Amino acid sequence: MLTTPEKLVLAALIPATAAAFLVPIVRRLRIVLAGAPEDRFRGLWTRFVRAATKVGLQRCTIRRERPATGLLHAGLFYGALTFDAMTVSHTFEGFVAGFYLFGRGGPGLVFSFVIDVAAFTVMAAVLFLAFRRFVVRPKAYGTTKGDSAVIYLLITLATATFLYFRAFEVAHDPGTARWSFLGPWLAGLVGRSGMSAAAAAAHVKAGWWAHLVAVYAFIAYVPHSKYLHMFAGPFNVFLRRSAPGGELEALDLEKSDVFGLEKIADLTWKDNLDAFSCMECGRCQDACPAFASGKPLSPKMILFNMKRALLDGGKVLVGKKRDGLPGLVPATFTEGEIWTCTTCGACQKECPVEIEHIRKIVGARRGRVLMESAFPPELNAFFRGLEANANPWNIGFAERAEWGEALGVRHIKDVPDAGCLLWVGCMGAFDDAGRGIAAALVKVLRAAGIAFGTLGTEEKCCGDSARRLGHEYLFQSLALENLALFRAYGVRKIVTFCPHGYNTLKHEYPKLAGRVPGLAGDDGARLAAIEVVSHVELIGSLIASGRLPLKPGAAEACVFHDPCYLGRHNGIIREPRAVLRAATGRPPREPRRHGEDSFCCGAGGGLMWTEESLGTRINRLRADEVAGAGAPLAAVACPFCLTMLRDGLKDGGRGDIAVKDVAQIVAERL
Ligand code: SF4
Ligand code: SF4
Repeated sequence: MLTTPEKLVLAALIPATAAAFLVPIVRRLRIVLAGAPEDRFRGLWTRFVRAATKVGLQRCTIRRERPATGLLHAGLFYGALTFDAMTVSHTFEGFVAGFYLFGRGGPGLVFSFVIDVAAFTVMAAVLFLAFRRFVVRPKAYGTTKGDSAVIYLLITLATATFLYFRAFEVAHDPGTARWSFLGPWLAGLVGRSGMSAAAAAAHVKAGWWAHLVAVYAFIAYVPHSKYLHMFAGPFNVFLRRSAPGGELEALDLEKSDVFGLEKIADLTWKDNLDAFSCMECGRCQDACPAFASGKPLSPKMILFNMKRALLDGGKVLVGKKRDGLPGLVPATFTEGEIWTCTTCGACQKECPVEIEHIRKIVGARRGRVLMESAFPPELNAFFRGLEANANPWNIGFAERAEWGEALGVRHIKDVPDAGCLLWVGCMGAFDDAGRGIAAALVKVLRAAGIAFGTLGTEEKCCGDSARRLGHEYLFQSLALENLALFRAYGVRKIVTFCPHGYNTLKHEYPKLAGRVPGLAGDDGARLAAIEVVSHVELIGSLIASGRLPLKPGAAEACVFHDPCYLGRHNGIIREPRAVLRAATGRPPREPRRHGEDSFCCGAGGGLMWTEESLGTRINRLRADEVAGAGAPLAAVACPFCLTMLRDGLKDGGRGDIAVKDVAQIVAERL
């Protein structure tokens, strides 16, 4: 079809486009690889199957929260794949007249039909997405509008020029229609214009070139834009972290020179890949309680600003000249951003490409606390309390066991047949509301005939908040002391009623078990294998096995608020509902956001111990959702949530709604 000079032009265009595509890709790849090392290469086959299924079936975007956008994104995805095949065919056709990638038989006929369907779906998707972005203008899309406009324009041009080409191609040679339905229809329009065969042939060539240039321009533009996620996103899903979402990695405090993230160079290569995988969809921002309550934090902007910093400092990063880089805070993240995250995990749960926001924010906190000694002033008292008396209030450690004295709760060393250690936690030991939960759980355990003990005055704070506030040194000190106690008393099973303690003891302590001083034999392995159960799991199993007979009573309506560290981070969603159904005689009502999609109470990530001075209080927002369910009783399964919801309801004039822990509701029905 092309003349020899035209073929030469095409032959030059191919490497030029490839270079325009590959040079920025290689630049970004070098920046990614300049990141700190990290192992993400275990279980490659499982990773591959999971990523291929998720991306291939577009389960990353076809989701509840934006069903129409998800479906049309899937249309765009499959349409783009089809057009990619078409581009290969189109390019070869330039050199070999009449070339058709899938041949003249069945596959070629089917492809000619599929490509028409793809043209439809791609255009429908682009129109819908452009309407949302430029007319509806949701906050979630508030970045790089120009980028989107260019890409929508290029996709529209590529599709329009394809249709232009097909109209004249089929008009000129009806045999090329195959099973196309658009081609013959468009060719009919051309035919009605009375155009000569020579003119139609000239249009075929013009259409061919126009389509080729539009597609090549698209290819060259993609790596410069957020649409790089088309390539980086699937790798990011493949290389995701396989640990539970609530688990933070331990810092090696003995061997490292830099603790946490002090500069952008301290990010790992996977963090860098995260930044280049972000599609700027804003799903994380929509779900973020900090953003919703008017704090200066948007998880989307964390990634957006990271990407900008990586590109700006690319040469320094690749040259490994860390000293030439500014501090991560405030050059890339602000203090307001890093200290208002509740580590609720809603952002990570929503992200289609499985970006890990929390470790970047906690990493920045670690850098501030451990390298600069810079943190919100109210945390001084919190850290001092943990250092001196192993509790946030700095109450004398000897008072830790007072709550249980009147109840006759004994130290585990005095209960020889103890089946489990009751982990009391700081809230259970010192806070009035927490003590109420502890007392209720004691009643439940006794009713079921379970022998248990506590660590009494020896128990230390589990360290969850210290760790999430960036004080890794303090966390590890507390954890090692607690682990040494578990070893000394031969603990095999722990029951917790605080999801933060549950998460830390279950997922984070085992990683430190081998570092307990004076270990002998397989002590370390035994410590790492301690079974940790949440009180809702235990109560649920006791009810199911008939060991906890509940009094039949009048059915009572309640609404259940899922704690982030129980539901979203640890997948314990059915258990508390089953317990409440058994205890209250009916399934609990659900607030607007529940289960995995629950909305934080505002206390996680150590924010229980900071002042929430910016924007609306998160617990007020959540209390409104809980009150909206119309039940006189709000059930929780976390002492932090209990305090936050109770205060939020009171502040909102709904102090008439009682807030109780699941254990308390069950204990009342024994
Ligand atoms: S973990 Fe929660 S609070 Fe923190 S950025 Fe993500 S959604 Fe926002
Ligand atoms: S981080 Fe994930 S959810 Fe947030 S904007 Fe980027 S791709 Fe979307």
